[in-house]
Amino acid sequence: MGGYIGRFAPSPTGALHAGSLVAALASWLDTRAHGGRWLVRIEDTDTPRCVPGADEIILAQLAACGLVPDEAPLWQSERTAWYEQALASLVAAELAYPCGCSRSAIDAANAARGIARPRNGERVYPGTCRSGLHGAGPSAWRMRTQAAPALLHWQDRRLGEQTQDLHTQVGDFVLRRADGLFTYQLAEVEDDAAQGISHVVRGEDLADNTARQRWLQDALGLPAPQYLHTPLVRGRNGEKLSKQNGAHPMDTGHPLAALNAAAAVLGLPKQVGTVGDALAAWTAAWLWNQSL
Ligand code: GLU
Repeated sequence: MGGYIGRFAPSPTGALHAGSLVAALASWLDTRAHGGRWLVRIEDTDTPRCVPGADEIILAQLAACGLVPDEAPLWQSERTAWYEQALASLVAAELAYPCGCSRSAIDAANAARGIARPRNGERVYPGTCRSGLHGAGPSAWRMRTQAAPALLHWQDRRLGEQTQDLHTQVGDFVLRRADGLFTYQLAEVEDDAAQGISHVVRGEDLADNTARQRWLQDALGLPAPQYLHTPLVRGRNGEKLSKQNGAHPMDTGHPLAALNAAAAVLGLPKQVGTVGDALAAWTAAWLWNQSL
């Protein structure tokens, strides 16, 4: 298959752990199995959450696992000018608007309409600033969802047909925060297009963002990649593995053990021997792997 470009896009909020390695390995294997190019993008837009040096640790962990990008990595912190252009074009098309609402103002407006926010759920924006900015504080920029298709459909290679009603399930979402930082949604869509990504392979916890990203791609006139969301590794409390529920940084001293654990999550058999042999065996098995 020609033209395949895949990517792994870690946020440098800490070292790779058993969960993030699954996404890295899956995107690498899918790329190699399709004869494509594999890129790495460091998603460091949310600067307060970034840990200095975590980017280099992640790249060293990937290298220890034989997962080496085919081009120099891209850092999102160097891409602000492009995000500004994308936002300006959405504003010009009247698809983005400024919003001065605080989180508590949004919660209060929703509560007044009898809408409770589920635990860990979306804070659906009630549209307060949609037809004019309220408040005098610094404003965020939001993407209009009213103009999106009533039910946004997209196809996942593992999960099948997915749908989301952006307007009622998400609401107008933030593109640029009031502190000036661009959000994951805008940066991801802009950079996947800039890097020519044809296939997105990432953890299932991110699947819920895809409808927003498809809407942004359509609004910006960008092509839509194909999507594959991989099974999650769960922590002690049954939720997605994270530093908070027991994730340990991947041990660069034992890359094959770490890779075998990630491969098992992907339904791939245990390998012995060198890292290179293991990657070759899994690449050969990948396209026939029924669980994906
Ligand atoms: N940076 C995101 C994360 O580490 C992943 C983004 C993506 O793959 O789209 O969770």
